[in-house]
Amino acid sequence: MTVIGLDDTDSRSLGMCTTYVATRVAKRLVQAGGRVEELLLVRLLPSVEYKTRGNAALAIHTDVAPEVARETLDSTLDLAMTGDDRTNPGALVADCSPGDVSDGVATFAKRAARESCSLSRARTVAAEAGFEAVTRGTGRGLVGALAAIGADRAFDEWTYECITYRDKSVWGTPRDVDKESVFTAAQAAYPTVWDTVDLGECDAVCVPRTPGPVLYGIRGETPTAVCAVADSIESEPVDVRQLFRTNQGTDAHIQDAPLRALLDGRCYRTTARVLERPETREGGHVFVGLGQPDESETESSESILAAAFEPTKRFRDHVRALRPGDTITACGEFTDGTLKLEKFRVRDLVDTERVTPPCPSCERSMESAGRDAGYRCRECGTSAPGRIERSLERDIEAGWYEVPPCARRHIAKPLIRGGFDGATHPER
Ligand code: ZN
Repeated sequence: MTVIGLDDTDSRSLGMCTTYVATRVAKRLVQAGGRVEELLLVRLLPSVEYKTRGNAALAIHTDVAPEVARETLDSTLDLAMTGDDRTNPGALVADCSPGDVSDGVATFAKRAARESCSLSRARTVAAEAGFEAVTRGTGRGLVGALAAIGADRAFDEWTYECITYRDKSVWGTPRDVDKESVFTAAQAAYPTVWDTVDLGECDAVCVPRTPGPVLYGIRGETPTAVCAVADSIESEPVDVRQLFRTNQGTDAHIQDAPLRALLDGRCYRTTARVLERPETREGGHVFVGLGQPDESETESSESILAAAFEPTKRFRDHVRALRPGDTITACGEFTDGTLKLEKFRVRDLVDTERVTPPCPSCERSMESAGRDAGYRCRECGTSAPGRIERSLERDIEAGWYEVPPCARRHIAKPLIRGGFDGATHPER
């Protein structure tokens, strides 16, 4: 067996896409008389500084000899259009089965989904493993290439995506995909197939808006289901179609940590107490302060902001419904002191609030009688010693809430996939 790892062939300006380059490499391997067992589409840490659009790395599992693989890569990497100097393709050839890679390679893959990994570290691990490298430019893509080779051992949860590609002659022109056929197929295959459409936004999210070769990508639990949906969509002619096994929709980027231990640029699941009422700021972005779950209001030392940005649409209503004292478990990327929410679980809801007492005679709200002097009604001469507890109507229930499909990161796990602690409120 031979495993090929490939990354950083995306080009922002020229619209190339690593999944397409991998598909082309696989096709050439078959033309050379080889057999291609499968293609892996591996999503890595979404927040890395060098990321190209989707931050995807690809692995090809094949039976061709390593020399054939290397020669094929050499001729195909030029497809990656290195005229874009931000594109620095890297490929690796491993002369072994995907399940037989070293612990070092598997660990590297696991880390690359959760933190930024250096090119020099990737070169060292790849050299130790005896993998052959083919690069253009700085070869930055070796990081993803190595992670893609280690992915089969590193991750134990997999989903599938069937991607169709456009004929090269129409790249950059508007895509001709029949929206009704997309919605019909998505409806019929849900929830085995997910994130095909966004019903709330009435959007076919499986059809990208960027230039480039992808016509549409169908995601779900089984190869049969995603391919069947892909087949039933009416569109312009499909040039080529490819099935990928992938860590998309698995939360492979998320790690657990207490609020005080969050590191910049990583993605976490952390339990926290809501410190203040959520605030909607300019642009429609919603922010809420979070503190340690186990500290009282007065002694809270650590605090962060959690954010639901405007593109997360209706998800913001759930964040706005939070109140001080609620306990939540929040998931998202932590950057510059702010956790960009992907999903959260409501663990405990406060059901009372402390309010200024109403006057027993006129029922109007009393006024403060001064510091530590309680409240009074000037009109009626009544007084009260302090605030009173009133039951609070809540617009949110216990359980998990998530961003809608239109705002979902490739790697983030949709609630409909299951396996979450607590109730779920899936978006579709
Ligand atoms: Zn009164």
